Amino acid sequence: MVKVLVNGACGRMGQAVLAAVLADDGLELVGAVDLKGGMDTGELIGQGKNGILVEEDLVAALANHKPEVMVDFTRPDVVFDNVCTALKAKVSPVVGTTGLSEEQKEKIRKLSEEYNTPAFIAPNFAIGAVLMMLMSKQAAKYMPHVEIIELHHDNKLDAPSGTAIQTAAMISEVRESMKQGHPDEKEKLAGARGAEYDGMHIHSVRLPGYVAHQEVIFGGLGQTLTIRHDSMNRESFMPGVVLACKRIGGLKGLTVGLDKLLD
Ligand code: NAD
Repeated sequence: MVKVLVNGACGRMGQAVLAAVLADDGLELVGAVDLKGGMDTGELIGQGKNGILVEEDLVAALANHKPEVMVDFTRPDVVFDNVCTALKAKVSPVVGTTGLSEEQKEKIRKLSEEYNTPAFIAPNFAIGAVLMMLMSKQAAKYMPHVEIIELHHDNKLDAPSGTAIQTAAMISEVRESMKQGHPDEKEKLAGARGAEYDGMHIHSVRLPGYVAHQEVIFGGLGQTLTIRHDSMNRESFMPGVVLACKRIGGLKGLTVGLDKLLD
């Protein structure tokens, strides 16, 4: 059984991870951390007391419970420190929190090698989203004009989403860099054409009612192709999180993307 600590346990994703870890025969929940501690994790997710309490001190919780894996679904501004803390304690981080910069990922890669402790980051743990990214990469070889629209709930702190950035990064591996749209186009309202990644435009929608959704639209002569993925609820991410917890022990250094764990 892989021993797991959940960081950000009281959040929307954290609670879903608690339930997924408790339900899986191959994983053992040994600890939970959030800003405000004290409550029982079983009660928190409506399953009745299980004796595993939410704690506030990550360093102490890692030392006391000795997990093999720390799952992190916290906030973009704290995730880097959390991951460094876990690696220094020789605990493997499985990171779902988005917003890590390339520079921070590079530091995590080095720390992971220095402490000989594997680390795993996935901007999206839903299998359908991984397929959307892989199919988009495939389509971009033949239809290089592409724009990305990502749609999320209005409590999301970072924009564009990690999934949108990862999709654009994967597409730019197979697409010649180019500027899209009319060369003389002008924004009458700043931001109208969205963010730009290697010439691709990314548009972020934030509204109550959404969970996590993305459309990748390709345009060609007289035709368009749209690849769309919708996460209807947070359970959609759990098989990916559970898989990463089970497989991370066999990895080396930093691995980014759920696609790396699939055949
Ligand atoms: P949320 O606001 O509901 O939960 C975040 C939790 O982290 C809160 O309970 C908060 O108290 C806690 N927290 C904040 N700072 C902390 C700290 N220093 N130490 C411990 N706990 C801390 O947010 P959410 O909707 O659960 O999303 C969390 C993150 O996961 C976001 O970055 C979101 O974009 C990302 N996310 C990723 C995926 C994926 O598949 N990779 C899917 C959904 C959401």
